[in-house]
Amino acid sequence: MSTLLLRGVEVAGRPADVRLAGGVVAELGSDLAARPGDEVLDGRGGALIPGLHDHHIHLMATAAAERSVRVGPPEVSSPGELADVLRRADAALPPGAWLRAVGYHESVAGDLDREALDALLPHRPVRVQHRSGAQWSLNSAACRAVGLDEGQRPEGAETDASGRPTGRLLRADAWLRDRLPAGDPPDLSALGRRLARAGVTGVTDATPVERPADLRVLADAGLPQRLTLTGGPALAAADFPENVARGPVKLVVADHELPSLDALAGAIGAAHLADRPVAVHCVSLVALVLALAAWEQAGVRSGDRIEHASVVSPELVPVLAARGLTVVTQPGFVAERGDRYLLDVPPREHADLYRCASLLDAGVPVAGSTDAPYGSPDPWIAVKAAADRRTAGGRILGARERLSPHRALELFLTAPDAPGKRPRSVRPGAPADLVLLAAPLGDVLAAPSSDAVVMTFFAGTPFSA
Ligand SMILES: [Zn+2]
Repeated sequence: MSTLLLRGVEVAGRPADVRLAGGVVAELGSDLAARPGDEVLDGRGGALIPGLHDHHIHLMATAAAERSVRVGPPEVSSPGELADVLRRADAALPPGAWLRAVGYHESVAGDLDREALDALLPHRPVRVQHRSGAQWSLNSAACRAVGLDEGQRPEGAETDASGRPTGRLLRADAWLRDRLPAGDPPDLSALGRRLARAGVTGVTDATPVERPADLRVLADAGLPQRLTLTGGPALAAADFPENVARGPVKLVVADHELPSLDALAGAIGAAHLADRPVAVHCVSLVALVLALAAWEQAGVRSGDRIEHASVVSPELVPVLAARGLTVVTQPGFVAERGDRYLLDVPPREHADLYRCASLLDAGVPVAGSTDAPYGSPDPWIAVKAAADRRTAGGRILGARERLSPHRALELFLTAPDAPGKRPRSVRPGAPADLVLLAAPLGDVLAAPSSDAVVMTFFAGTPFSA
């Protein structure tokens, strides 16, 4: 196996040379001599850091979103802009093909139902995803195409007073997917390259898929990143493909349809019985309170985590710490959605949104993630937002929650099986999943950006896109 000698890099704040061999960091020192067979690379003083791990992403949906039209803020923020982008997308598609739009928010043109969509585009099937990912709105052509009008209805299908489907489907993705034309599955290779260019060497897919085949598709996608998969409760005891790591069982506490305390506690207990921790999706205070009550009943297992923890009231911070729960959060939403939160969320709750520093100070392990496609898949946006808490509009959201830029980066440096615990480091014996930056770390973190990534290494091999 070839070896690589990285000369003139910065490791943990000091100048260093690093030899990569056998997929690991073989040697770390100063003035390492090149050996026969060494490929030598000049790091020009740039920092060498562990590859970033995104602790919560949805790979398939992110790849699909890249083939979809974006119809939400900031790109689209008025009914006129919505009509424009849909018309342009329509003109680019063959007749009869489905139009898929994502990122919708009701501030654009209110709640979308079939009539609203028919008024914009009646002649081809159209589906629009709310930016929460929880809801699809279908126009009438789409309702007919999936059989909604013929009485085939998933649980989340909304109907009007007369019993007719409104075109709105809540959390009915699996049902919908089975009824869509079997187009080519989204190609994950472009996403894998994009993540590699941003220095991401590992991801945890947090989609609660319910079929072994859905795990297999991700395992076989040929992504350069190390994969940890969750899957939903139906796969709690399933065998996972061997080239992926088995993460926690993903449980969704959906605000529109809260599970009973017993059901949630039962699901947590079932995952634990299958020897797996749980990752519980909580985006509201109600969901968090319910989840904590369920944990009280089922018990907490090492590795149990709260996904998002979008709203944590101050009195719950010590409760999370006492229970030993980890928070996997998305500070990037401060940048991407913060201006909307400042408008929509009551001011007294602004301090409770996407907490970081107050959780860490209380002893709660916190790990970073993008939740792409609902956030940008670029983790450096989240690193920057965790440090400056600045919205796209330049306002500050949760000044108390600011982290030092180093600490913000560490949100993405912890191991997939120990999110929020000790950050990985560049040391002999560690896997050579590494990122070479264009400058010393302190300089890069003065303005965190994926532009600073010069090269990403997977098991010691430079990634070439
Ligand atoms: Zn998610």
